[in-house]
Amino acid sequence: MKPAPFLYARARTVDEALALLAEHGDDAKPLAGGQSLVPLLNMRLARPSALVDVNRVEGLDRIAIDDGAVRVGAIVRQSALESWPEVRASLPLVAEALPYVGHFATRNRGTVGGSIAHADASAELPLCLACLQGSVVVAGPAGRREVAADDFFLTHFTTSLEPGELLVETVWPSARPNDGFAFEEFALRHGDYALAMVACVVRDGRARVTLGAVVDRPTSLDLPLDPHEAGEAAAASVDPPASIHATPEYRRRLVATLVGRAVGRAARNAQEGAR
Ligand code: FAD
Repeated sequence: MKPAPFLYARARTVDEALALLAEHGDDAKPLAGGQSLVPLLNMRLARPSALVDVNRVEGLDRIAIDDGAVRVGAIVRQSALESWPEVRASLPLVAEALPYVGHFATRNRGTVGGSIAHADASAELPLCLACLQGSVVVAGPAGRREVAADDFFLTHFTTSLEPGELLVETVWPSARPNDGFAFEEFALRHGDYALAMVACVVRDGRARVTLGAVVDRPTSLDLPLDPHEAGEAAAASVDPPASIHATPEYRRRLVATLVGRAVGRAARNAQEGAR
């Protein structure tokens, strides 16, 4: 299929992008890597009246370490973050999760900001941003604001972005010396969206576990470091939807297994880091 007709405009600056979004009204959408939006256009599941191409907006393609966090511009390609020299030291959780995001080819076009704005409940980057208690910087007609990830993701494909607003940056708290991290997911094939996925940070004797794919938005739990206990507590906290690929009970058992693995691995990483 082919998209319904739409106007196309390319922005060079954030202000230009905001002006174009304002000019074309609520029905206009930013276009980033197109790896989610273009399939939706082709299937006519999205019919924006105008696309504002943000792929060349100045200043949104930077990665910078700033005051204990990594600031990632909205149009940084997923592969650029994956190959960023500091990623393993500063963002070990993201380094572990990125290879699961689609395929190498899609990561070369897909952007970090696009994945966060798309807010697929089965996407790895929103899960990691929520687990790390990161935030999103949004520019709009009323200026800029910073939104905590837990307040940004509302439900499937729905965020607290207002019409006419643009995600300009994501902020990822850097790893601390005695932290432990682990990412686990189960998908039927590599590159498929996960049936269940888990991000885990172990810090100061507790595990912060964030669940994805079995919930409608990244959902975080504060769990004990005993892998079995943590797994069972996480499994009891979810009510996964049935799908053609798996029953709710199967996905609940997946959660128990993946959480147990992630908490065990992250706790060991934390101990090794403490040595
Ligand atoms: P686009 O597709 O351009 O935009 C996505 C949405 O975000 C649109 O609604 C757009 O208007 C909005 N948007 C984009 N940028 C901004 C911004 N700066 N401000 C406000 N709104 C914005 N993703 C995964 O996480 N895991 C997977 O396993 C996975 N598998 C995939 C497999 C295939 C074959 C393909 C094609 C894609 C897959 N993806 C997967 C999706 C991919 O990661 C997308 O790149 C990502 O979801 C969206 O990023 P994008 O830059 O392509 O955004």
